[in-house]
Amino acid sequence: MKILCIGRNYEEHAKELKNPLPPEPVVFSKPDSAILRNNSPFYLPDFAKDFHHEVELVIKISRLGKNIEAQYAHRYYDEIGLGIDFTARDLQDELRGKGLPWEKCKAFDGSAVISGFVAKEKYTDLNNINFSLLVNGQPRQMGNSRDMIFNVDQIISHVSRYFTLKIGDLIYTGTPAGVGPVAIGDRLQGYIEEELFFDFLVK
Ligand code: ZN
Repeated sequence: MKILCIGRNYEEHAKELKNPLPPEPVVFSKPDSAILRNNSPFYLPDFAKDFHHEVELVIKISRLGKNIEAQYAHRYYDEIGLGIDFTARDLQDELRGKGLPWEKCKAFDGSAVISGFVAKEKYTDLNNINFSLLVNGQPRQMGNSRDMIFNVDQIISHVSRYFTLKIGDLIYTGTPAGVGPVAIGDRLQGYIEEELFFDFLVK
């Protein structure tokens, strides 16, 4: 399976990192070795100093597809979860400054935290889902899928022009404002609406 991620998909987050709003989805990927599940601790790697949390809604692909039209995209996913796209921000700034790819700062082991999944029918409107991240009990990121620049169906349509989507593939749909560094000992709890989806420690 593969993991596709969308960058700068919330206006307030793009602004906080001083990035322009994208005219089309910003896409990058992570290998399956990036996955961190079952509330396992995130061990801070030693190759950078500034690791940021990015809480994101995650879509799981349920059907093989290529060149999917947005109006049919809903047929290609049936479950939703919550994840964190961990980012080595200092390394990302360095790589971007040199015009180099993002893999080292975005796709390292443990960088794709993922919760369990629930049926999308659980939510009446996929374009109006609240989600949030608490760090040590304090709200750090609060988002709503209505604020996505490109919604889930548009994302699926776009990425499937480039990548055949396979059953089990994950799509991280972008993070709202409020990203920030994590430190050893932090406890991260992620919610969709009022339901706890993940709860793990940074070590
Ligand atoms: Zn992200």
